[in-house]
Amino acid sequence: MKFFSTNNPGHQVDLVEAVIKGLAPDQGLYMPMKVPVLSNELLNKLPQMTFHEIGYEVIGALFSTALSQGQIKELVDHTLTFDAPLVKVEEDVYALELFHGPTLAFKDFGARFCSKLMSMLMAKSDQKVRVLVATSGDTGSAVANGFLEVDGVEVIILFPKGKVSELQEKQFTTLGRNITALEVDGVFDDCQRMVKEAFLDAELNEKLLLTSANSINVARWIPQCLYYFYAFSRLPKNDKKVAFAVPSGNFGNIAAGILAQRMGLPIAQFVAATNVNKVVPDYLNGADFQTMASIATISNSMDVGNPSNFPRLLALYGGDEQALRDNVKGYFYTDEETVEVMQEVYRAGYTLDPHGAVGYKGLMDFMAENDNFQGVFLETAHPGKFRETVENALDLTLTLPGRLAAFMDGEKKVHAMGNDFKEFKGYLMRLDRII
Ligand SMILES: *Cc1c(COP(=O)(O)O)cnc(C)c1O
Repeated sequence: MKFFSTNNPGHQVDLVEAVIKGLAPDQGLYMPMKVPVLSNELLNKLPQMTFHEIGYEVIGALFSTALSQGQIKELVDHTLTFDAPLVKVEEDVYALELFHGPTLAFKDFGARFCSKLMSMLMAKSDQKVRVLVATSGDTGSAVANGFLEVDGVEVIILFPKGKVSELQEKQFTTLGRNITALEVDGVFDDCQRMVKEAFLDAELNEKLLLTSANSINVARWIPQCLYYFYAFSRLPKNDKKVAFAVPSGNFGNIAAGILAQRMGLPIAQFVAATNVNKVVPDYLNGADFQTMASIATISNSMDVGNPSNFPRLLALYGGDEQALRDNVKGYFYTDEETVEVMQEVYRAGYTLDPHGAVGYKGLMDFMAENDNFQGVFLETAHPGKFRETVENALDLTLTLPGRLAAFMDGEKKVHAMGNDFKEFKGYLMRLDRII
């Protein structure tokens, strides 16, 4: 299985390099050279298959040249330790709940798959893989929990002191074992700069095997296609076309849905829904692709002014912009509109988080303009993760799910670190090279 860089189709690498490097040297994103198409026979059998069985088939089709059957099974079993139920919200409208994992957001799928795959690919090496992550909250918790106790991999998380919510902080500072948290006396940009400098430092890279596990890594991106297959298979069988609406920030999640479509899943239409960080909806509605400085909103995991997976979207349509614009409709909403829709749907009996609310509204607006559809919107986080916003919007008190509440009892353990690269490098240089 080979991957090419979206910046240069001639630059091709194998799975190990794509996963360990993350980003191509020319800054392009890795994409599979060949997308396998599943047989109709298999697609027709999906409704009778479990989520795991679907996982074995889909991951098998993509990775069978690089991994053994046993490895594929192990990888899927490690990833899918929680369900992704499809919940009917109203006639023809379903929520795909992706928040039943350890950190209550869909990023758990990609993080779990990525950790296991890295560990497998490096199993024969005597070198320990060091994953460096700068986080302002969510990425740190998903990566830390996904990599927890995975052999041969150690995660080092840099986060800005006093700038991450207590609940988020607890999710990556209390785990211990192979997860180390560095509390940086600075802001998020300092953490990001220090990590970037580490990847460029020749001496460090000579000594340690450093990698990134950020959201553009193919090992985080590809497994997200699984729940599109699963959700589609659980929809009622009728002659209605199927639309998927995805609340989007960096556009990795929706790009994975399009990958599922490329593999033969008959999704008729995608809806890309954003908050006022609306670079992609503007593009889909005919404007040029114009990045912007990000704007803070209540759906803050989507506050992205320069969506990093955009080249992946284009590549999935072979660079055909019209095809992309036809197949993906873009909508964006203000915070006021988001709160309104949360209130409306709550009254009808379902509690949306601010991200899911944006997806739901995109789906409703699309379905109002297009007949004969049934639709799925991706509920990307548990409402309890955005407790304050949800409680204020809906005037209620949420109970945190047990596993989230359990983090609050853990003991915070961090190393204090200045915001200077030299100190960080010194810390890394003192680590052992091997396992
Ligand atoms: C990361 C995130 C998103 C955006 O997903 P992309 O793949 O970056 O488009 C949406 N909702 C939640 C809750 C997230 O954490």
